[in-house]
Amino acid sequence: MKIVLASSEVVPFAKTGGLADVAGALPRELEKLGHDIVVFMPAYRCIHRAEPAVESTPVEFVLPVGNRVEAGRLLFSKLPDSQVTVFFVEHSHYFDRAQLYGSGGNDYEDNCERFTFFSRAVLESIRILGLNPDVVHVNDWQTGLIPALIKCEYRDHPSFENTSSLITIHNLAYQGIFEREKMAVTGLDGRYFNWRQMEFYGSLNLLKTGIVFADSINTVSPTYAAEIQQREQGCGLEGVLQDRRDRLSGILNGIDVSEWNPATDKHIAMTFDSDFDLNVGNRGKAKCKHALQVEAKLDPDPDVPLIGIVGRLATQKGWSLILPVLKAFLDSVAAQWVILGTGEPDYHHVLASLHRSYPDKLGLTLGFSNEYAHRIEAGADLFVMPSQYEPCGLNQMYSMAYGTIPIVRKTGGLADTVVNATHETTDNGTANGFSFDEFTPAALQATLARALRMYNEHRPTWNQLVQSGMKRDWSWNSSARQYEEVYRRTMLRESQRGHQ
Ligand code: ADP
Repeated sequence: MKIVLASSEVVPFAKTGGLADVAGALPRELEKLGHDIVVFMPAYRCIHRAEPAVESTPVEFVLPVGNRVEAGRLLFSKLPDSQVTVFFVEHSHYFDRAQLYGSGGNDYEDNCERFTFFSRAVLESIRILGLNPDVVHVNDWQTGLIPALIKCEYRDHPSFENTSSLITIHNLAYQGIFEREKMAVTGLDGRYFNWRQMEFYGSLNLLKTGIVFADSINTVSPTYAAEIQQREQGCGLEGVLQDRRDRLSGILNGIDVSEWNPATDKHIAMTFDSDFDLNVGNRGKAKCKHALQVEAKLDPDPDVPLIGIVGRLATQKGWSLILPVLKAFLDSVAAQWVILGTGEPDYHHVLASLHRSYPDKLGLTLGFSNEYAHRIEAGADLFVMPSQYEPCGLNQMYSMAYGTIPIVRKTGGLADTVVNATHETTDNGTANGFSFDEFTPAALQATLARALRMYNEHRPTWNQLVQSGMKRDWSWNSSARQYEEVYRRTMLRESQRGHQ
């Protein structure tokens, strides 16, 4: 298959979130499966600091953006450890900036122009280079215009004769909503500005545009795919998604096992794997726990349960549940906590004050450190992640790969990856963590208490959960095969349309 993937961020060139990880990892896996894949992203300032180096190409184009004509050109590089070509769309005014989407907490005012230009540049480059893709795979609102442009403007061009499109939703909360006047920027006919297509309560909505015009739609976990069709998590697009439910699926992200693998990890005190005696426990992991306790200035007691948290200090991650439970535990429960995070100032203040009161039970780092995140995943016994919503989530997968038992709320990708420990799942060996439904501190507290009982009183069963999480394949391989399948279905829809 010939695939073009367009994304506003791609690891290792630019990243603000999980989208970049997917766009950097999936193409390499698809190449391994024998597909011909090319990636497009904007030429932000930061791409020139990345490895591999970025080089120029002779490809240039001029494009309409509203009533202006803008010139751009392509740069190129490769994804590391692969032959996958990455093309960068260069336009110095739009993309040579300090940030990707905005500064000082505000979006750039011309984001609609910037990503219209990028979307048009992808299609123009496909035409100029004669790429003839079977599937154009777009991601989130920044590339939501592409499926509409394929259908409305490029359909009759030989390079797009058999081209179908897939849009992946990484987080429905971000939709690319602009005032109605921006419809003219897209260059599409004003008749598409209606509530069934590009309009959303009087504004232009680029994610909705992608969902409406793409041949297939997916999101990053099966449960999130179901949840976003309901009012509570549909962010106003539940009706559109219900309408297109026969085209909508969920595919879990994988993790990058070249970076997150306890058997090869360079950031941890001792490497370890899933091969250990359930009655003895994992010796390598025990070493990592000791090192983490020392690093976090906690008593290096091997038997006290060590609870880890890594993540954004944002409402989405369930801090309104974590904080009361943390307070209660610090007061009365024999457990240690290690927390690494950064985000909303209110959470910083509360955590800093708890840390001052309980330095012997809470190790706190308010900041961002990839290396320390590795050491927490390797050294902690439990990992707490009670998200309000979670499209896929990576940290719970890192935890299980590192033998750290996740305590999660049953939502989105957390529901699809964590198998709650019950009599049945521990008996049949599938349990790998603990989960709960209700978004309340009491539910989190009860679940943590249940987990600690198993840790303190039934260690071989606990070790069985550890081993079960470690043995599961969290790599991109199985996700890439599912994308392959969605591309096939998407192409089939397109060919059936051609025969109508
Ligand atoms: P989200 O993308 O919603 O923030 P995920 O669990 O999908 O949540 O991914 C979060 C990623 O960011 C993980 O790789 C996690 O380790 C990393 N991360 C988040 N906060 C920090 C931090 N303070 N320090 C280091 N890594 C962090």
